[in-house]
Amino acid sequence: MTIILCVLNLNDNAVCPVCKMKSSHFKNFYGMMDIGKIKDWKLQLKIKERLYYCENSQCKKENFIPNAQVDYKEKIANFSYVVSIPENKKRICEFFDIN
Ligand SMILES: [Zn+2]
Repeated sequence: MTIILCVLNLNDNAVCPVCKMKSSHFKNFYGMMDIGKIKDWKLQLKIKERLYYCENSQCKKENFIPNAQVDYKEKIANFSYVVSIPENKKRICEFFDIN
């Protein structure tokens, strides 16, 4: 049994971290990560991110992922911490109706 948590990036444009030019040219990509277990339920993080292409032909950055300051390892560590608190675990179980 698996619970899938989705992380979506819904911004339509982003700023190149190198030249600061706004870009609205992107492609979606998907990733899946295991983040642990609650009781017998497997928790997975489904990631939908956007890979942006810099539209400035003078820029050496071809593509970039915005909001990458907090990476997924850190997000997973935060989530694992939240789940490790007994009271939160109880609430999560109630929310997903897990007994
Ligand atoms: Zn650029």
